[in-house]
Amino acid sequence: MTNYRKSTVDQAKFIAETCSSCRRCMRQCVFLQQQGQTPAQLFEDFVEKGDIAPLVPYSCQLCHQCTVVCPHHLELADAFLAIRQDMVQANHGHTPLKQMKGVELHQLLSRFALFCYTKKG
Ligand code: SF4
Ligand code: SF4
Repeated sequence: MTNYRKSTVDQAKFIAETCSSCRRCMRQCVFLQQQGQTPAQLFEDFVEKGDIAPLVPYSCQLCHQCTVVCPHHLELADAFLAIRQDMVQANHGHTPLKQMKGVELHQLLSRFALFCYTKKG
């Protein structure tokens, strides 16, 4: 289980307590619609349980559209990103999602000249 930073938990608590469940953000975001919970419920669950399924924070596209429409300008993307960062830290620098292993490998290999293409100008 991930040990989340105090700042991450505080961020989640702030959203849980401030979100008025108006669902404006949910009308803009397929990911939030699929959760079937308002951000208030989603982050309250995270705070109460002390954890969340990795697929949830990893499904946020970090586009900030929710913040644009939110009457409280809540930063859901920042909160999901903080949760992801804590998960990676707890997993010794690796993604906790097996679906992301391919991306991790791609990033690793792209550091080597063998896998890079440079066009001489
Ligand atoms: S930042 Fe995440 S939660 Fe907000 S609209 Fe984009 S995908 Fe949805
Ligand atoms: S728009 Fe803001 S207040 Fe409304 S449900 Fe989304 S996060 Fe909560």
